[in-house]
Amino acid sequence: MKIAVLSVQGAFIEHEKMLSLLGVQSFEIRQKRDLEQEFDGLILPGGESTVMGKLLKELDLFEPLKKKIKEGLPVLGTCAGLILLAEKISNDENTYLGTLPVTVRRNAYGRQLGSFYTEEEVTGVGKIPMAFIRAPFVESAGADTEIIARVDGNIVGVKYHNQIGVSFHPEVTECTRLHEYFLRICQAHSKP
Ligand code: GLN
Repeated sequence: MKIAVLSVQGAFIEHEKMLSLLGVQSFEIRQKRDLEQEFDGLILPGGESTVMGKLLKELDLFEPLKKKIKEGLPVLGTCAGLILLAEKISNDENTYLGTLPVTVRRNAYGRQLGSFYTEEEVTGVGKIPMAFIRAPFVESAGADTEIIARVDGNIVGVKYHNQIGVSFHPEVTECTRLHEYFLRICQAHSKP
């Protein structure tokens, strides 16, 4: 199995470390030709969605990534990665990939005091540590979108077919369970 990690900005190295801890091969997507190889899943890391969005556009990566996700490529978006996937951003005019039927709010916990740590249940995963860093949350989700995690009533995890979006950063904790869950989806997709 081989997982692509979008590596134009943000916390991509942490995801690569998680994958290598789990014995899974990964590679970085930095330009269009990196998409020429075969892979089984894609991770969109946390970082700054506006910066990543701008770079994706300049690098002409939007359309090919969007196409692959629409065709069923499993994708895990964490924090800014969730914002990149969202169909709508309630406090931003931009939309990026727009493949995940949710409305998200950027910096939903406030800009300065928006970082915290907690533990909560994720459907199909169990109770895991969650690090929130200037995180978004999901304000509303489409009817077919499964809500897999909430913190204090706010939606912080969703699943829509092979797309997983979470507000928090599983890659900065010691817990590999969310990545394992994602890899099971990748496995099922590549070998149905
Ligand atoms: N606040 C960032 C954004 O809006 C997301 C923060 C993160 O990914 N840790 O893009």
